Amino acid sequence: MSGTEGPAKLRSMRRFFLRTFGCQMNQHDAEKLGNLLHHQGFSPSSSAEDADLVLIHTCSIREKAEQKLYTEIGILAKLKAGRPELVLGVGGCVAQQEGAKLLKRFPVLDFVFGPQNITHLPAMVARAAEHQRSLWVDYDEDPQRRFELPERHPEFESVTPGRAFVTVMEGCDLFCTYCVVPKTRGREVSRSSGSIVEEAQRCADRGVVEITLLGQTVNAYGRTRPGQVADEIPFAELIRRISEIDGIERIRFTSPHPIFVSDDLIHAYGEIPELCPHLHLPVQSGSNRVLEAMNRRYTREDYLDLVTRLRAVRGDIALTTDWIVGFPGETEAEFEATLSLLREVKFVDSFSFKYSERPETPAQRRGLIPMDPAEAGKRLEALQLLQRDLTLAAHQARVGSKVTILVEGTSRRGVDQQRGRCEYNRVVNFVSPAAVQAGSIQDVEIIDATPHSLLAVTALTAAAPRSLELPIV
Ligand code: SF4
Repeated sequence: MSGTEGPAKLRSMRRFFLRTFGCQMNQHDAEKLGNLLHHQGFSPSSSAEDADLVLIHTCSIREKAEQKLYTEIGILAKLKAGRPELVLGVGGCVAQQEGAKLLKRFPVLDFVFGPQNITHLPAMVARAAEHQRSLWVDYDEDPQRRFELPERHPEFESVTPGRAFVTVMEGCDLFCTYCVVPKTRGREVSRSSGSIVEEAQRCADRGVVEITLLGQTVNAYGRTRPGQVADEIPFAELIRRISEIDGIERIRFTSPHPIFVSDDLIHAYGEIPELCPHLHLPVQSGSNRVLEAMNRRYTREDYLDLVTRLRAVRGDIALTTDWIVGFPGETEAEFEATLSLLREVKFVDSFSFKYSERPETPAQRRGLIPMDPAEAGKRLEALQLLQRDLTLAAHQARVGSKVTILVEGTSRRGVDQQRGRCEYNRVVNFVSPAAVQAGSIQDVEIIDATPHSLLAVTALTAAAPRSLELPIV
């Protein structure tokens, strides 16, 4: 290869295809990857067949993630056999976990990189253009480097107009026994508050009205850790500073950990109008023995105390959560404790999963035996049925009230309805005599409810005769 062949090949590479799996953090990382490639001169392609560069962005939370990845690589290997110039990369948590093994097993791969090495993507692509393979799974010496990203192009923003995600911290120091995140994303690192507020300001300057702050344990933000910058502030203060930016009307965050819900954060719900009255606070189980086996570091009583204190400050706060059903050794009585906690808190909604053993987790290393999948399945079904009833009741209680929604666009129910999310983070389908611009904030009145969504009318519709036939699914 001549010395100029590499750069020439890089210049001729124009289109990328990115396939991403997993959580909100991964989806946001995918936006960052797309934006980095945009700054390198690439534009997105709708299929791998039309692309010069294909990236698979993996997630290791669910079972069989590695198998799915191997299947994908097999398909791409066939594509590359017909087009040897095609560049293939794998990122995300499975890439971090499998690292060098992946490169060795699949010679078709040009590079493999972990979630904390996203900023090195342009360098890996440039090396691939010169037929050099890269493995980038080590932690950077400078922990702030992972946050140093170029200005975001709107094409690589959240798909919802008016909304943006801003990463405030990464990694986790808590080591829940079922979770691989501390291994794949590394230890907790907070981003400098100045850089976060600047990014939020830039979002507001281009019309963003709602910001979601992201981090694995987002409300651990600002804990003083060795090697971190000096200007960190507590999480509640970070929210306050962002709320002072003109144009930012709503602030959310995900995912918090109960042990980092401070008094200041609770009071912020009563003091900062921009902080949405919704909190997704993962609890995982209602049994103290299971919580301890999971290494969650709080008890059922601690969690209930938080709920009481939050509701004392903000009575209408909507609480949602995560559950893991069928953790190794979970007895019938312990599962009943989970159901009773769900009934007691009356969560508006929840994400629930059967426990699945993940490689390299403390639970796997300790040899904890997963319970009978059929029994775990029955328990999951019982929990989801109860949740469905509670969600419907919570939605019905909103009928007749007014909420404010961020309009997302046309409803999945059809073109006669639009859709948005209210301050309580519920999906609201609504009818208006005139289309309302996506990305704008709209006051509506709730007129009906299902377990999945709310149905509303705008003030204009409400003023008109109520003779609408409104389909509800
Ligand atoms: S708090 Fe627990 S579940 Fe959440 S990322 Fe950390 S180890 Fe995983």
